[in-house]
Amino acid sequence: MEFVEIDLISNFYKIPKRPSLGQLEIFMDSSSELRRDLISGDWVVIATGRGKRPQRAVKKRARDLEYEKTEGCPFDNPQSGSNAPPLFVVQKPGAQMSEDWFIQVIPNKYPALAPGEEYDRTVGPFDVKSGVGFHELVITQPHDRGLPQFSIEEASLVLHTYRSRYHALAHEHSVRYISIFHNFGKEAGASIFHPHSQILAIPVIPPDVNRSFQGSLKYFEEKGHCVHCDLIGWERQQRLRVIFENNSFIALCPFVSRSAFEVRIFPKAHEPCFQELGDRELSDAAEALKETLRKIWAVLEEPSYNFFIHSSPCGKSLYFPHYHWHLEVLPKVSIWAGFEIATGIEISTVAPEEAAAMLRKA
Ligand SMILES: [Zn+2]
Ligand SMILES: [Zn+2]
Repeated sequence: MEFVEIDLISNFYKIPKRPSLGQLEIFMDSSSELRRDLISGDWVVIATGRGKRPQRAVKKRARDLEYEKTEGCPFDNPQSGSNAPPLFVVQKPGAQMSEDWFIQVIPNKYPALAPGEEYDRTVGPFDVKSGVGFHELVITQPHDRGLPQFSIEEASLVLHTYRSRYHALAHEHSVRYISIFHNFGKEAGASIFHPHSQILAIPVIPPDVNRSFQGSLKYFEEKGHCVHCDLIGWERQQRLRVIFENNSFIALCPFVSRSAFEVRIFPKAHEPCFQELGDRELSDAAEALKETLRKIWAVLEEPSYNFFIHSSPCGKSLYFPHYHWHLEVLPKVSIWAGFEIATGIEISTVAPEEAAAMLRKA
């Protein structure tokens, strides 16, 4: 058997020149780069050559008239179905009738975790815990208008509802962590089209969040300050990835974006806990969230998306002063495939610098 060897790799592949930092944006138009997250230590691939143009990297939300229709929507009038009475209601501004609700919170009819008897035990070598917790839905009106279209006042009422439910659930004995998240669109995993968020209060600290806590703690112990405060300071100097800023909040595409058009929203002042958000800051947070979603909605042409809050765990003994709460917004632009599942390395096809430039203008 005979083998033919290609003598030089550089004859075969085109190898681009190494960029200087000032050329970052130009360089990222044609090449890949591995970037390492400061907190998790994970690498991501920013592979802009794969997407060619940002528009081509974007997976448009598949319109499904059957999925989006109002008829038979279980959230237009939740109590007309077999849903429980609301736990919390926000009336429409100026509403006379009690059924004129703008937001209602109901227990999820199909909860992942529900209140019940608490136990801890072992099964062979395994630890087992009772699935005790709370699973609530935050439904807004109307059917076909959501956060990207809301006014700042309406978005503030959504955050106000999150905060109220957070306070109520944080006092429950079993609760160690409260996860607040929003799925919009089929590709983002929303089984019902009607805009709604979910609140899950659980008896353990989830692994992804725990890694974020541990990474922040390690940085704090080494450098003596909050990693998020340092990153916000660096981003405000660089001005390459910031998409929106007001008095107390900043929205940016992180340097190590896990997927194209990922946006994180931070309070500019150091604060470990979402529930400590004051009323004035709440309106700034609402504006930053609403503006971020409006921009994503415009640039990516009404995509499916997820967003969630990362905050400190519940309970005084679990207070993490080094942590810095924030919101993460992830438009659904790609699906995890073989490489991502096999390696845990995510590939983003649009550089965050490029995504930020587009979102800033929108
Ligand atoms: Zn509906
Ligand atoms: Zn901080």
